Amino acid sequence: MKTEPSGIYIHIPFCIRKCPYCDFYSVTDFSLKPPFLKALMREMRMVCNVPRFNTLYIGGGTPSVLDVEDIRQIMEAARRSYNILPESEITIEANPGTVNPEKLRDYHCAGVNRINIGVQSLQDANLTFLGRIHSARDAVLAIRWARKAGFDNMGLDLIYGIPGQTKKSWLLDLQNAIEFEPEHLSCYMLTFEPDTPMDRDRRRGIFRPLNEHSAASLFKTTTEFLNDSGYAQYEISNFARSESERSRHNQKYWSDVPYTGLGPSAHSFTGDERYWNHRSVKRYIQDIIDEQRLPIAERELLTKEQRMTEAIYLGLRKTEGISVDDFDEKFGVSFNRMFRETIKSLEEEGFMKVSQKRCSLTLSGMVFLDSIASALVSGFDDPLSLLPDC
Ligand code: SF4
Repeated sequence: MKTEPSGIYIHIPFCIRKCPYCDFYSVTDFSLKPPFLKALMREMRMVCNVPRFNTLYIGGGTPSVLDVEDIRQIMEAARRSYNILPESEITIEANPGTVNPEKLRDYHCAGVNRINIGVQSLQDANLTFLGRIHSARDAVLAIRWARKAGFDNMGLDLIYGIPGQTKKSWLLDLQNAIEFEPEHLSCYMLTFEPDTPMDRDRRRGIFRPLNEHSAASLFKTTTEFLNDSGYAQYEISNFARSESERSRHNQKYWSDVPYTGLGPSAHSFTGDERYWNHRSVKRYIQDIIDEQRLPIAERELLTKEQRMTEAIYLGLRKTEGISVDDFDEKFGVSFNRMFRETIKSLEEEGFMKVSQKRCSLTLSGMVFLDSIASALVSGFDDPLSLLPDC
């Protein structure tokens, strides 16, 4: 098995306003920005990673609230501390409400070569429901400015499954988005994360979410429309015009490739261990600057069973599915023998495609990703009976 270079993720924990559906960690207190940046620079020096990196992803939060000087400083510090390979993919997430032509041009000049714009919708009514700080016009301008700034690798994020949304209305968003010929599209189904303001409104009956049938139908519409328009689905929510235009960074998350996360709440993965930083900017600053220690909240050494579970959950998210040979080699088991009965019935139901080499979900199967993955995983409730070398 070839070794893929690792990825670096940097979490910028600031947003101008919190969107009611979002459970990513961020704060709106910008007075914490200078000490945060100081702590981030120091965290980079403290995290001495030997591996080579070929992706750097600046996410959040809203990284595009940073000035170009901040971005330059972050990139220089990353290059000093890590072995970032030439031709690396360097992505920034941008919120249309926080950019202007100069800022985007400066980001590009600073070495950022991929931009992911959080458009979410090109209809103002949807943006209002989602509590976004920008209008559809702002999103269109951000896309145009990004192109003018020199970004020839651009991804757009869209959200569907908004209460009351019809197939026609969603297709209008998709159609309008592809008019800009982005290299990449991420289409996320709106979910109601526990304890977010939107989830509380849902529970209070302030709006009625789409029923499961309508949501599943919009998912299928998305994939069929984008595949027909030249955007191949490669992961449940991600589409690209060609293999080289897929998100190199995000593919690491689904493919068992190690990554290092910096910043509050950022997660890291070494191959057999996961650890994550405190979900608090203040605690992050205090640990690094005052206590001179890494801001790690928790570590989890993964058992073989946990790693197999992850390989199944993450592998089935990808249209190429799970490589049976890689699974067998990595875990010392026979995938086909372990899951023969479950796979056979899923195949008969039209939810799964299986060959000697790969096991993947059909479009209908992807609708039930979680239940299917959990049906497979429950097959090793008693791992000792299934794993010959345990
Ligand atoms: S801008 Fe992005 S990170 Fe910030 S609250 Fe909204 S969705 Fe979450």
